Amino acid sequence: MEEMNLLETVRKQICTCSVDLRLTPNVEELLKKPMHELHVSLPVRMDDGTIQTFQGFRVQYNNARGPAKGGIRFHPDETINTIRGLAAIMTWKCALHDLPLGGAKGGVICNPKVMSQGELERLSRAYMKAICRFIGPGRDIPAPDVYTNPQVMAWMMDEYASITGYTEFGVITGKPVTLGGSEGRDDATARGGWIAIREAGKHLGVYFAIRETASAMEMPVTNTTVAVQGFGNVGYHAARLAGELAGCRVVALSDSRGAIYNPEGLDPHSVMEHKKKTGSVTGYPGASAITNEELLELEVDILIPAALENVITAKNAHHIRAKILAEFANGPTTREAEDILSENGIHIIPDFLCNGGGVIVSYYEMVQNFTMDHWPATEVRRRLDERMTAAYTAVYTMVRTHGVPMRQAAYTIALERVVRAMEDRGWV
Ligand code: GLU
Repeated sequence: MEEMNLLETVRKQICTCSVDLRLTPNVEELLKKPMHELHVSLPVRMDDGTIQTFQGFRVQYNNARGPAKGGIRFHPDETINTIRGLAAIMTWKCALHDLPLGGAKGGVICNPKVMSQGELERLSRAYMKAICRFIGPGRDIPAPDVYTNPQVMAWMMDEYASITGYTEFGVITGKPVTLGGSEGRDDATARGGWIAIREAGKHLGVYFAIRETASAMEMPVTNTTVAVQGFGNVGYHAARLAGELAGCRVVALSDSRGAIYNPEGLDPHSVMEHKKKTGSVTGYPGASAITNEELLELEVDILIPAALENVITAKNAHHIRAKILAEFANGPTTREAEDILSENGIHIIPDFLCNGGGVIVSYYEMVQNFTMDHWPATEVRRRLDERMTAAYTAVYTMVRTHGVPMRQAAYTIALERVVRAMEDRGWV
């Protein structure tokens, strides 16, 4: 039976690197477990007057390199082991991108799609009330993730302010720009992902020519095709920037209800209009209906999973025909699937390298909050490009010099930095 527990996937990956890194059993043990975690019950008054109790978690996986950092997910299928795995991935992500931060993740088991704005606000405030003594700017800084957004961050920041008696912008990132949020945070994950794809293209002999993000040049349309799985914040911007930054043709898009396909190309703006009206990308005129599974197996240049974990498994990996798999989502590929993809010569840009743009700009948001400053979008994007490019180059250099797969190289660099910080602190 294939392992679908994200924490187990992470643990196996640590084992793969332990010989190269000469990890002692004690250090390896420490890296395989979260350092702190909090489980909370959240009583929330619903619109019909009843009280519903939701379960929530916050996991601080490792804070050797600095305060723990990571998003909050609102999802009906949330589990503590997924949150632990995602908190571990945040630890490696911050280390690989050389941010002075550790890794964390939070989640609440709920279905925001069936909740009113009022119910969501009360849930967000209840969650912050429950975790407020566990977090803080020097301890753990949450951010948006699956089904949470700047509005949820604003409610949580306000709740924190009500409890402490002062407004501290740096307690949470991904806030609206009106409330200490950073320019360029909304599409940072997707933009960072496209910078990683651009770098991959350079090294792989260029399937496509992605323009420098700082340039104002018109992008010529290329024949490069892209399929994007997921149409939330990351998926939408991934599809939009495919055309705007890279001149690529988006031939397929999906959300949790199904997928749409048009080999001539889809306009992400108008698909978004359709989704706003109908609640889904399905039924979009001018495209044929396909399943999410079929989308993943399309013959495209670039496949972008931008939704949840464990979508590429041993079951479908043999059928993946993309040249590049750019993991905009966290943990979309299982360990077994990865071996199959590698055998088939698919270039994988692993999640914590590829989707680091979100937390990189979250870090810039913190820097702006601490210095009471506000940077223009051009400045944020220039710095984002620099950091993404540096991380891609470091990983790819290790792939070339050590002959290891991309994910193993990324893990090795990240783990080494975390272990060095633990040694310097005198923990190990
Ligand atoms: N949720 C995003 C991620 O998984 C961003 C986290 C953050 O900004 O702290 O990387």
